[in-house]
Amino acid sequence: MENESCRMCGGDGRVSNSFGGSSKTCPSCHGNGRRSIEPLFRDVTKTKSSHHHPSTKAAAPKPDAPTTFEGIKLANEVKASGLSDSVKSKLVREIMEYEGSHGRCTDTFSKKIRKQLR
Ligand SMILES: [Zn+2]
Repeated sequence: MENESCRMCGGDGRVSNSFGGSSKTCPSCHGNGRRSIEPLFRDVTKTKSSHHHPSTKAAAPKPDAPTTFEGIKLANEVKASGLSDSVKSKLVREIMEYEGSHGRCTDTFSKKIRKQLR
C-alpha cells in the first residue's frame, strides 16, 4: 500500500518544524506514516477561489462614487443635470461625504441636493 502513505510527511511519520533541524511526529498520521482516515488535507488545489489574494484587499482606495442605493441614485441625478462638471463633482463628493458620516443619504439630504439641480 505504498500510495496510502501520509501526504503530510510522505510516509516517514515525521515532519520538520519551521525552525529547521529537529523534526517532530507528524500530526497528520501521528507517526505511523499512513494516510489519515480523516480528510485533513483535501485536494486544496482543486477547490477554486479558496486561494487568498491579498493584493485585492490591500490598500482599498477611497471610493470615487457613492456606494448606497440612495447615493448612487442621487449621483446619477446630479450627473444627468445641466450643471457644470465642477459643480457636479462637488455635489457627488458631498453625497459621498454624507454617506460616509451618516451611513446613507436621508430624504432631507436628497431634497437638499435636488434643490441645487434646478
Ligand atoms: Zn504523516
